[in-house]
Amino acid sequence: MRLFLAFLLLLTANLSQAQLLIRNATVIDVETKKLLPAQDVLVQDGRIAAIGKKLAAPQNVQVIDGTGKFLAPGWVDAHVHFFQSGGIYTRPDAIDLRKYKPYEDEIKWTHQNMENFLRRYTSAGITSVIDVGATVNFLKQRDSFRTKGYAPSVYMTGPLLTTWEPQQFKGLKDDEPFYEMKTVEDARAYVQKQLPYKPDFIKIWYIVMGRNTDSAARKYLPLVQTVIDESHKNGLRVAVHATERITAQLAVEAGADFLVHGIEDEPVDAAFVKLLKDKKVVLSPTLVVAGNYMSTFGQEYGTKQHDFKYAHPTPLNSIIDLKGIPDTNFTNRYKTYVQGNRSSASATDSILRSNLKKLIDGGVIIATGTDAGNIGTQHASSYFDELKAMKESGLDMWQLVQASTINGAKAVGKDAEFGSIKKGKRADLVLLNKNPIDDLANWNNIDRVINKGTAVKPDSVMRNSPADLADQQLLAYNAHNLEAFLAPYAEDVEIYTFPNKLDIKGKDQMRKAYQFLNTTPKLYCKLLNRIVQGNIVIDHEEVWGFGNKPFYGVAIYEIEAGKIKRVYFPQ
Ligand SMILES: [Zn+2]
Repeated sequence: MRLFLAFLLLLTANLSQAQLLIRNATVIDVETKKLLPAQDVLVQDGRIAAIGKKLAAPQNVQVIDGTGKFLAPGWVDAHVHFFQSGGIYTRPDAIDLRKYKPYEDEIKWTHQNMENFLRRYTSAGITSVIDVGATVNFLKQRDSFRTKGYAPSVYMTGPLLTTWEPQQFKGLKDDEPFYEMKTVEDARAYVQKQLPYKPDFIKIWYIVMGRNTDSAARKYLPLVQTVIDESHKNGLRVAVHATERITAQLAVEAGADFLVHGIEDEPVDAAFVKLLKDKKVVLSPTLVVAGNYMSTFGQEYGTKQHDFKYAHPTPLNSIIDLKGIPDTNFTNRYKTYVQGNRSSASATDSILRSNLKKLIDGGVIIATGTDAGNIGTQHASSYFDELKAMKESGLDMWQLVQASTINGAKAVGKDAEFGSIKKGKRADLVLLNKNPIDDLANWNNIDRVINKGTAVKPDSVMRNSPADLADQQLLAYNAHNLEAFLAPYAEDVEIYTFPNKLDIKGKDQMRKAYQFLNTTPKLYCKLLNRIVQGNIVIDHEEVWGFGNKPFYGVAIYEIEAGKIKRVYFPQ
């Protein structure tokens, strides 16, 4: 017993003294916009303990050779929502498919998969995520990840305090993402109601309807003002959804700290830019989210390479499955809407982008944020789409790096805690194989992620369940991407005609046998039903693309050591 206790003490002692020394890396100093060559960075107890040339190595320190590599602060996504999956069933107010999947099931799924999403963020080098609109139940779940090495640091609000609530979300109690304010008393009470769950900040959904935006915005201003005053009184910053110039202006004048979207209704003027700059407001432009709704509803969603790498395949599959929804009259109305609104959407997008350029040129603090979780905007992977859109809007590489690190920290008022490589800050770092200042493609060329002081290889942090693996290959099958399709299979995969006639052995044979993925343009596999039992996944599938009619089949996937090892097709 005594021996065991001594061993335990030793173990905990080692853990609390976890030390890491990164040798000879080029440090990306985001505050001075400088590359500092040949730096050693010592990490102790989850913090950056020292930075300099040729530091003395403490005993038992884990040494990582950074020669030829670049050390950046971990990336920050300043706008995500964990109550949303990124899939087609996640916003019944935008498209109501609750008869195919009840919203309660979607909420349950997002809770069950929060860990999975967090692992994907870490794997992508995103070590802090800011959830700007959650629920009481998600606030409770947030706390369970605080000390987990695989999870980014999560900053989260409670439900959005809103001037308007979509009816689909009413009555969900602690799963409700909105509290609708009718009076200033409501506004104050709803801030108070969140306090026991310790939100990191407070969020307002400043929604105005009707033609006269100006008068509607002014009508709701007392509610907005009350929330801001009550939050500040309790030491909490306030984030505001305000996509019109007037709502944004009124919110900032009322003391808002963080605008979670860009301005999309009119070009902003110099006075507006100066207002945001003087008040040190942080703005997250969220450039890609609207287009993702459009391409989803238009059934023209394109899956990209980084989606296969980082996105959760299940919600992404559901986006492609919109064309498989039986009520095609309903889904075609969305398609028609998209076709009819293409030019107005692109006009809005160009206002949004040119406003971003004016804001950054005028010295406003811009933070990279995706609005991930919304329909079509995938957790973790959409970050790289957002960066590309910001670059296209005219941000230079240093501006992008700052927006994705220190400015994200400023959004939640925690820039003394994280966001740059400084002594005393949390050791959230990405060790990159190539220089991120040269090319956006280098941002996810990651050697290691150091998260809360723990070094992880990006692949090792991911955990795919048997169902995730089945979904991963289904997604790639429908995207006609052969290599992504093969990725979840074991090198020595075996494919049988049920029960025991071996047809294919090994990935090379499989690659040859599935060449039709590249040559069958209408190929589409719809999942009709699924049974998961332990490491076995049984899918009932409807396959289109060969002739005018579908064929039906059953596939039995057997998973071993995180890969699909055997597949059986009953005849
Ligand atoms: Zn949002």
